Amino acid sequence: MLIEIRIDKDKIINNIKKIREINKNIIFVLKDDAYGLGIDNILPIILSDDVEKIAVAFINEAVKVKKIINESNKSKISVMTLNYVEKENLNIALKEDIEITIYSLIQLNEYIEYMNQNMCNLRLHIKLNTGMNRLGFDEIDVSELIRLIKTENLQIKSIFSHISNVDDIKMTRKQINKFNEMIKIFDDNEIKYEYKHIQASPLLFKEKDKYNYDFARVGMALYGLQPLRTTIELENPIQLISKVIHIRNVKKGEKVSYGINNKLNLDTKIAIIPIGYAHGIQKQIENKKSYVLIRGKKAYVLGEICMDMIIVDVTNIEEISIHDEVVIIGEQGKYNISVTKMANWADTIQDDILSKLDKNIKKIIINNNK
Ligand SMILES: *Cc1c(COP(=O)(O)O)cnc(C)c1O
Repeated sequence: MLIEIRIDKDKIINNIKKIREINKNIIFVLKDDAYGLGIDNILPIILSDDVEKIAVAFINEAVKVKKIINESNKSKISVMTLNYVEKENLNIALKEDIEITIYSLIQLNEYIEYMNQNMCNLRLHIKLNTGMNRLGFDEIDVSELIRLIKTENLQIKSIFSHISNVDDIKMTRKQINKFNEMIKIFDDNEIKYEYKHIQASPLLFKEKDKYNYDFARVGMALYGLQPLRTTIELENPIQLISKVIHIRNVKKGEKVSYGINNKLNLDTKIAIIPIGYAHGIQKQIENKKSYVLIRGKKAYVLGEICMDMIIVDVTNIEEISIHDEVVIIGEQGKYNISVTKMANWADTIQDDILSKLDKNIKKIIINNNK
């Protein structure tokens, strides 16, 4: 295999334990194909734990999740979408018993029209806008929303909101106060719902159990991504691996890869690795003193990242040979290339690194503790 992603099952299980120490009730977020790692790979690992609820972005992902859940006889687990479901796909939600997020009156009225035409009742989650200004009902919409819930006899599963920036404690408090105020309007109007939730990974680890409510929606922490600027005790379950396919010696003054800023100052031994931006290696990591690991040593990236290759400096790795394993993300020897480090090199965030990795890369589930 020229490229593979190894996913360590036990590390994911350990991360779940750490999350449950803070809030034992988790909605596992598997959106965008489990942050790029594949619902097929991640869901079976999670199912070995006591899962109650799963959230995804889109309806096709929800269908995929439902299929795996039903095949493992865990059909009690509920599945919700967080993003928009088009009216023409609502029949799938009904057929597969998928719960749907509503976030605006226009959207809700589309759904009501559908439900009335088809004499059916969707299970709904209400998303409130408390300051992020992405999806969510504004406070001004709430009285009309409540009227519709009552007159249309809508089934409300939960009420939730999302925090935009836990680094800004004042803003976070403001969002939580807003959430509480809006929830109170529903309660005062005796609207029935089963649970409420606002924590995602960052709030969970920043404020611990302070804002637990009924559930935490957790993505990042599950996959070992760091939810805060400080490093916390989560384990990285992911290794992105490739191999050396060619080695050559290049003379001082010659160039490597495309472009102009790539002249060598010294005689250099270089290795070619068959992975590039087409596989999700971000072009931005070039010229950032980024490196890969070979034989427990750092091999710095030279010149531009190509579509399906990168070139690294292996002058100091004397024993190097073709077929040597190359760690692009993960640990080898005393070094560790975390997703955070890769994100810093690329000047982006961890989720962006993971979710952009080519979905076709072969995933291998490993179990180190056994
Ligand atoms: C992505 C997402 C989550 C999960 O967030 P993490 O920070 O990855 O834990 C939770 N809720 C909503 C609405 C989301 O979009």
